[in-house]
Amino acid sequence: MASGQPARENRTIRIVWRRWVLIAGLGLALAVSDPAVSPSPTPSQTFSVGTHGFSGGFGGGAKPSAVSKSPGRIDPTHSDESARDESGFDQPKPKEAKPSETEHSEVAKQLSIINFTDPDSFTVLVNKERPLNPVNYAPTDLEVVGTTELRAEAAAQLQKLLDAAKANGTPLRTQSGYRSYSTQQGTYAKWVAQYGSAHAQKFSARPGYSEHQTGLAVDLIPATGACQKLSRCVADTPAGSWLLDNAGSFGFILRYEKDTTDITGYGYEPWHFRYVGLDAAQDYLDGDYHSFEDYFLAHDIAHPVAQ
Ligand SMILES: [Zn+2]
Repeated sequence: MASGQPARENRTIRIVWRRWVLIAGLGLALAVSDPAVSPSPTPSQTFSVGTHGFSGGFGGGAKPSAVSKSPGRIDPTHSDESARDESGFDQPKPKEAKPSETEHSEVAKQLSIINFTDPDSFTVLVNKERPLNPVNYAPTDLEVVGTTELRAEAAAQLQKLLDAAKANGTPLRTQSGYRSYSTQQGTYAKWVAQYGSAHAQKFSARPGYSEHQTGLAVDLIPATGACQKLSRCVADTPAGSWLLDNAGSFGFILRYEKDTTDITGYGYEPWHFRYVGLDAAQDYLDGDYHSFEDYFLAHDIAHPVAQ
């Protein structure tokens, strides 16, 4: 889809998603107490994403701790809370809380608007295990912003962000935005020649595996003062600090946070931001997620794996 997803529909997703988490939690509570009840989907279905090419973590496969740490997940240890009243005593479990087939398919239909696979989706997930498909994908709606190009909606939102940063007295500038498949081929080959492929992969993406190829990722650095470079010192500057606090309001998320290398495959990059859309960014912040991989694991029930 070349244009943005309608905001109202995305708000509906959030509402339906929260409702679904509640329903799924109740369903899970029933399953724990009554093996004959089988809520759909089960947690194993929810988190089985192997056919999508992403196992949920890097350097050792799926990490259960990463799956359970974020709010908004189906958490068996808390799934029976809604079956208690304020006195803390168990109440009869509401059997009718199990989602009907109709309700489930309606939820899945709504969630399918968040699409992690379509390269034209603002929520496409690209990482070291999930290349773009096709691998030489190129967006068709690129527009100039700053010194680079991004897809039209992302470019418009980035311009607003840059204007706001300037108005705040903490101006930022673009270092790198869209990079084509062939540009990334050259960049990656240069690093491999210099450092070897094993080391190069730690900080550079193979062509087809870079978020910059989506036209939705941008590297931002301070336009004045200290640390006008792609370095972790960006986070310690007034501009970098403002960016970390405000990017979400413009639909961008910090893609590679501290201490998420096992999940994202990359070290901390306080300069690399990814446009996911205004509503998805708000949903991401509301859910207190710390990697887009975690967000994917929590939301991809729209495409349950065929068993
Ligand atoms: Zn970057």
